[in-house]
Amino acid sequence: MPDSQVFISVVIPIYNEEENIPELHERLTPILEKLCSDSGQSREDYEIIMVDDGSRDRSWELIRDLHRRDGRVRGITFARNFGHHIALTAGLDNCRGSAVVLMDGDLQDPPEEIPRMYALFNAGHDLVYGIREVRNDSLFKKMTSKLFWWMLRRFSGVAIPEGQTMLRIMSRRMVDALKQMRERARFVHGMMAWVGFNVTTMDVKHAPRSKGKSKYNIPRMFALAFHAITSFSTVPLRLATYTGLLCACISMLIGLYFIYQKIFHDIPVLGYASIIVSIFFVGGVQLLMLGLFGEYLGRTYQEVQGRPLYITRETLL
Ligand code: UDP
Ligand code: MG
Repeated sequence: MPDSQVFISVVIPIYNEEENIPELHERLTPILEKLCSDSGQSREDYEIIMVDDGSRDRSWELIRDLHRRDGRVRGITFARNFGHHIALTAGLDNCRGSAVVLMDGDLQDPPEEIPRMYALFNAGHDLVYGIREVRNDSLFKKMTSKLFWWMLRRFSGVAIPEGQTMLRIMSRRMVDALKQMRERARFVHGMMAWVGFNVTTMDVKHAPRSKGKSKYNIPRMFALAFHAITSFSTVPLRLATYTGLLCACISMLIGLYFIYQKIFHDIPVLGYASIIVSIFFVGGVQLLMLGLFGEYLGRTYQEVQGRPLYITRETLL
């Protein structure tokens, strides 16, 4: 943890965003300078921490370049790609601000919203996050995201509103609380909801991604959804009990029906097909449950290993 504090930190995860980095810096600088001087601080009293998540393009060179020209830009680069939420964690671990802004590096959440958000934050909240008024993404992305948030709310037991942007401002004590949470299955939206404190939301505009591509493909989205659900809920484990109970009840009823048929109508019990189908059905359910157990077991194993969350290759702090 660096010693001297600054007024405000902005943490930005960067993965192959070379097209966005210059604009990011250009747009953020005047906003942050103004915010600092309006709050009675020196204009320079901020830092922008860009966490390069093992980009394969020129992102890190650009960050290094910016750091050389503008000391308020700091950087961390990972030894490989560790993932969006881990990159955010590294930023939080190293930031020094008494207030900390998180935002994505793709400029979909406009930095111009920061001053308005800061005003709300300053009114006495520990966390203010954006809710997208209108989401500017593809239909597929919108639908999968809807499904994801629905499952999460259904299973997690933590109040996590839909449509959250990564753009948010947090207090120092919120950051310190998050820094204590070292689990590997990271889902920062959920972790922040879990911490508690004074939280509020604000409607923000959402721009379409103008440059570069979304880094979340289908397997990555599934992985995040699984992390999110399994790290906040053990309800899926209980599903095994419920399904087992249901199957047992149904098969008992069917059994009774067959006995009744045999005794009163003397109808022989037919049904090669029904036997095969039920064997496969029960087998399928068992394998599914075993898979679910395995998922949690694997998660436990990873946590027990206790490896560091990320490995840094170079830091410019
Ligand atoms: N990102 C990252 N590591 C990854 C994937 C993404 O640091 O493995 C960064 C990415 O550079 C961007 C942010 O996380 O700044 C959000 O990613 P993206 O815009 O691709 O996600 P989407 O908005 O499509 O959900
Ligand atoms: Mg994006």
